[in-house]
Amino acid sequence: MSQKNYPPIAKRRGLMFVLSSPSGAGKTTLSRRLLKEEEGVDLSVSVTTRPMRPGEVDGRDYHFITPETYDTMVQNDDLLEHATVFDYQYGTPKAQVLQALEHGHDVLFDIDWQGTRQLAEQCREDLVSVFLLPPTLGELERRLRTRAQDSEAVVQKRMAKAVEEISHWEEYDYVVINEDLDHTMDHIRRILHAERFKRWRQRDIVGFVQNLCKSA
Ligand code: 5GP
Repeated sequence: MSQKNYPPIAKRRGLMFVLSSPSGAGKTTLSRRLLKEEEGVDLSVSVTTRPMRPGEVDGRDYHFITPETYDTMVQNDDLLEHATVFDYQYGTPKAQVLQALEHGHDVLFDIDWQGTRQLAEQCREDLVSVFLLPPTLGELERRLRTRAQDSEAVVQKRMAKAVEEISHWEEYDYVVINEDLDHTMDHIRRILHAERFKRWRQRDIVGFVQNLCKSA
């Protein structure tokens, strides 16, 4: 997430929108579409110690950092949540997320169940979590292979991990089976739009209702 110049007053507090799924269930494509098609949604760019894949850009897909830098960030409490996934460390830089929410921007997270659980413990009222399921495990494997960025050993490891990841589906607010990308996109958009109307996110609503009743 890059430094933004937000307008000073926001009528609504932003929300944290988490999309989790096993690798290959369509999360990256859906995230990209949501960011492109929805106004006022920022992407939380995580830090990670894993090596960059072909086509990835530092600062856009992740902030690629050393294990030493990661340890320092954890010690300094600079991360909103952090976890080890597939032998590497991942975490969400705190400052920019909190700034975005304060200024009425929603923040999209592509994080796993461990991170989502930490956000639920710390920021329950800001959090909206969605778990994406693949229609079948065969389809998941096919998508992982078409992506063709990972070696066979990595694909096998990710398949094994997928079942473990799926076992956490009940910890999420919403569950969507990604059978058709356009339909799934519609469901995700509707969830986001409805959640924006949660009473406690609408900062100016108390004053509005008071004025409304005064005029009775
Ligand atoms: P990949 O290495 O394929 O980009 O991501 C592997 C897994 O790490 C994905 O399930 C992704 O959601 C998760 N992940 C990415 N960034 C973060 C993060 O900041 N925190 C946590 N907890 N998980 C993350």
